[in-house]
Amino acid sequence: MIKKNLCGSTPDEIMDLFKGSSCTRDNAVSILNSVYKKRSSDFSKIFKIPARLRNEIIDNSCSGLFQPVSSEVSEDKTVKYLFRTETGKMFETIYIPDNKRNTVCVSTQSGCRMGCSFCMTGRYGFHGDLSAGEILNQIISIPEAASVTHLVFMGMGEPLDNLDSVIKACEILTAEWGLAISPRNITVSTVGITPGVERFLTDSNCNLTLSLYSPFADERIKMVPAEKVYPVIKIIEIMKNYPLKKKRRLSLAYVMIREKNDSERHLERLIELLTGSEIRINLLPYHPVGKDSNASSIMEKMQYFKHNLVISGISASIRKSRGADISAACGLLAAGLKIT
Ligand code: SF4
Repeated sequence: MIKKNLCGSTPDEIMDLFKGSSCTRDNAVSILNSVYKKRSSDFSKIFKIPARLRNEIIDNSCSGLFQPVSSEVSEDKTVKYLFRTETGKMFETIYIPDNKRNTVCVSTQSGCRMGCSFCMTGRYGFHGDLSAGEILNQIISIPEAASVTHLVFMGMGEPLDNLDSVIKACEILTAEWGLAISPRNITVSTVGITPGVERFLTDSNCNLTLSLYSPFADERIKMVPAEKVYPVIKIIEIMKNYPLKKKRRLSLAYVMIREKNDSERHLERLIELLTGSEIRINLLPYHPVGKDSNASSIMEKMQYFKHNLVISGISASIRKSRGADISAACGLLAAGLKIT
């Protein structure tokens, strides 16, 4: 008999699963506490529930938690973990310590089917969606789990291409009965799938960041094939018009590539697009992949962009690159494979 994985379940699902043993909501929350908060796979230690229910859980279910198969540590202390599911899907998870802010970058798919030209994950190809439980396991089953303060969905895969699992994972991450992490500390990143953006803004309270690469459609289409179907300008309009609740953040990620998207013309278009909106912009260094001859913009140019955006009234920051020496930085994840 195949046992049911409980990681990725809600209290309603647990009550339904064990209705034969009259599982109450309090019982369901105790069971989920054991998985989400105690990170335990030993159901015999759940003492708050009736013995009959405990025995049924032990007989018919398992936690669904699984350990990484390998890890690598960067010189900047970033750690990259490789996971493999029981069906053989491989994916990577990054732990990024930074003083009191400790971030986990999770994957939502094994590989990706979006085919962005600059991305190693895109070159790795698509090997399957991750379930909500497999997404959550990346936070629960790393050795640093107890110190995690922030989460970014920026690992392998396009989160809005696996939206049901991502929205469910966000619900469990933020619920009191789940991992109880503030939605303000969780950011989902997308290259832009218009219906997914609209649904995510409505069905989740977490932050959203849109990867831009170029504010000009003819340039962006060469890097992000999704631009053909979902023009980014329309998505930015949706984000601008969305009634933002207090402290929720919508942002653009702008990876800066030397002499490709760091000209005066690009800067002027960014300012034109964002003036008067609450959308922030994060400027990031570029990491060439394989035989790519492109290079990152120099720091002076990134600071010049930031300065001009800020004096135009736009909230802008420069993000540090982390873990590049172990291929853990943006665009470099390929499940341990060396792809050229
Ligand atoms: S950048 Fe994101 S969406 Fe594009 S191929 Fe890489 S993982 Fe997929």
